[in-house]
Amino acid sequence: MKRRVLLWMILFLLLSAPASAGLNVVATLPWIGSIAREIGGDRVRVRVLVRPTQDAHYVEARPSMILAARRADLLMYNGLDLEAGYLPVLVESSRNPRIQPGMPGDVDCSRFVEVLQGDAATGRADRSMGDIHPLGNPHYHLSPKNIARVARGMADSLSAVDPGNRDLYMANLAAFERKLSQKLKQWSGAGLEGGRFVAYHRFFEYLAAEFGFHIVGYIEEKPGIPPSAAHIQEVMERMKEDGVTKILTTVYQVGREGRYVSERTGAELVVLPHDVGSMKGVDDWFGLIDRILEVLKGGTGGGR
Ligand SMILES: [Zn+2]
Repeated sequence: MKRRVLLWMILFLLLSAPASAGLNVVATLPWIGSIAREIGGDRVRVRVLVRPTQDAHYVEARPSMILAARRADLLMYNGLDLEAGYLPVLVESSRNPRIQPGMPGDVDCSRFVEVLQGDAATGRADRSMGDIHPLGNPHYHLSPKNIARVARGMADSLSAVDPGNRDLYMANLAAFERKLSQKLKQWSGAGLEGGRFVAYHRFFEYLAAEFGFHIVGYIEEKPGIPPSAAHIQEVMERMKEDGVTKILTTVYQVGREGRYVSERTGAELVVLPHDVGSMKGVDDWFGLIDRILEVLKGGTGGGR
């Protein structure tokens, strides 16, 4: 009799325990996962779809991504068509009503930010930057100002899906904002104002705008479009005129054009981390900005 009661108690506990406590957050990019963890804390399980060494512009859908999307309570993504190659098919194939367009679990982080449309090299504002930046520059994750907005947007989105834990998300947001304001003080001494660089891709425009340096030319002719010989020549002349000594690039873009320009001009090819996890020791979004500023100031690249 006693044993039977015990068995019933165990069965009751098993059945009454929630199958899975907390929210499943699927983030396309590592930095999005990093901020989601800060804001969601122990209420969220975060799954990141894109590997930290991948070029976010060229990702293909995999079956494991569809499985993850099927279980997602929230899908958080960069937007501005950065995920155009795989996200629409993923959302549709998931048949998950919670993350369909317009649902509370559909979190396009670009909704929260101020998008740069123009060309940092010329100051021109236009939408003809090329095929892979059709809606403006999508690499806003290197903007502390925009990340503050994204963090708030995430806290609101999590609260909308899980109103019972709103206080917790808001407390995590406040902690994130405190950390960010401390870091901003530290970063304000980066001393990059007036610096002039050339970059492979239009990847560092937000950072340049907020830290006061200039990208005076790009090795790519347009985003996603490899350069012609004439364009490379122009860039090298520009570098000479402006005394540029550093070419900024990312781990997946150290191509032969960059090496060629580096060899011909004597400028250093500087490889910067583009996302969380892309280099050893870059473990969260704060670490990402820390490392980029450190390298731009002349420190060493990889390793801690
Ligand atoms: Zn891009």
